[in-house]
Amino acid sequence: MKLSLLLLLLLLLIMYSTALSPSIDCGIIGCGPSGLALAHSLLAEGHTVRVFERRDEFRPVGAAVFLHPFALNSLRKVSPKLESQLLEASTRIHTLSFRTLSSGSEGFSFSLENLQDSERVFGAPFVAVRFWDMLKALKIGLPEDIFRFGYQLERYEQHDEGGVTLHFQGKESVDVKYLIDAGGIRSRTREQLLKKNDERIPRLRATFSVVDRDSLSTALSRESSDSRAAETGELAFLAGDNLSVVAMGLDDGGAFWSQTDLGADPFDPIAATDEDLKKKLADDFADFPSGVKALVSATNFEDAIETSVCELPVTWKWGEDDVTLLGDAAHAQLPALGLGVSTAFGDVEEITEQIRRRGLNREALRKYESKRKISCAVLQLMSRGMFYLNGVSANQN
Ligand SMILES: Cc1cc2nc3c(=O)[nH]c(=O)nc-3n(C[C@H](O)[C@H](O)[C@H](O)COP(=O)(O)OP(=O)(O)OC[C@H]3O[C@@H](n4cnc5c(N)ncnc54)[C@H](O)[C@@H]3O)c2cc1C
Repeated sequence: MKLSLLLLLLLLLIMYSTALSPSIDCGIIGCGPSGLALAHSLLAEGHTVRVFERRDEFRPVGAAVFLHPFALNSLRKVSPKLESQLLEASTRIHTLSFRTLSSGSEGFSFSLENLQDSERVFGAPFVAVRFWDMLKALKIGLPEDIFRFGYQLERYEQHDEGGVTLHFQGKESVDVKYLIDAGGIRSRTREQLLKKNDERIPRLRATFSVVDRDSLSTALSRESSDSRAAETGELAFLAGDNLSVVAMGLDDGGAFWSQTDLGADPFDPIAATDEDLKKKLADDFADFPSGVKALVSATNFEDAIETSVCELPVTWKWGEDDVTLLGDAAHAQLPALGLGVSTAFGDVEEITEQIRRRGLNREALRKYESKRKISCAVLQLMSRGMFYLNGVSANQN
């Protein structure tokens, strides 16, 4: 009799502690490249996850990015299938070209035409991909029921006994065992962890867009005999006075371009209307080759984004207790070296490795942080240095 009472008490105790412990192992903030890649990794290790995204739905976002071989190498270690999904959506880069245009006259130029060897040398190709295509490729294979759209994290609450409560704007709170915030440059967790001295630093003004195949070929035939600015697989850099353009043709016949304006004050208001932006770019590109003008005239200005590009100060604090940061939330850098996504996937590779070895626990989170902090700080500073070399004056810091 006494024994059965004891067993009953034990059972109740177990049920009580299970009820207290959150059933979700990990809350991931952000449906960007790092959050999506991490979700694959945690699910493969048998953990329950929820991905909370402030946007109302999974919808087109951003322009295009180019990725170093490190990005694909890291992704392969997380999941070879994920790597091939991303490769499928990408265009391989075979040539990198650079031209300076000083006040209309052509200056110095060079090109590297053997980038297709990068698979043999670095283990993966250099590629470019529409940001939205990248997100779609990374989402393939993730169950729909792990996503919560329209959930904007406001703050988290760490409990002494372990576990974290996530508080969202206008939504119910959610308990999770661990919080990994991949919310990018506006990460609320980062703000809460660092409390102060962590302002985003605007450094320059950028405008970017992707252009579809039909508009591009019409514009090229109308305006240009020089299609070099948008040749498929050629990542072309053109540097003018204070203005530079990066452009590349994609496998599907479309192209992407981005313009960085090193002369503009990043604190200036952005163009009020699409027409204003179109006019500003027409003036900016007056001395640029006709291929670049064709790219701009083929652009649907509703899809063009003009923005101040910011970076985050280097921090040595990436997490505490059951919370950590991942990707841009930990180390947003200027896009001078095109290393943002590669660095984010490097984080996912490292955290995956630590969780595989140690399980999802505090030790794994701290080990991941200590392994990544120094190299990410170096990359942040190198990206900043690259912009200063290009003539950006320090606005602050
Ligand atoms: C102009 C420009 C050009 C770039 N070019 C390149 C390039 O060529 N190559 C390259 O590798 N990188 C480039 N980058 C950098 C690259 O875009 C980032 O490094 C990368 O997107 C980081 O991924 P992430 O998942 O960490 O963050 P993000 O992509 O920023 O994703 C964060 C996600 O979290 C969501 N979120 C944010 N806050 C909350 C919240 N409170 N609650 C819920 N959800 C939230 C956001 O909506 C978003 O979906 C460029 C960046 C810029 C600005």
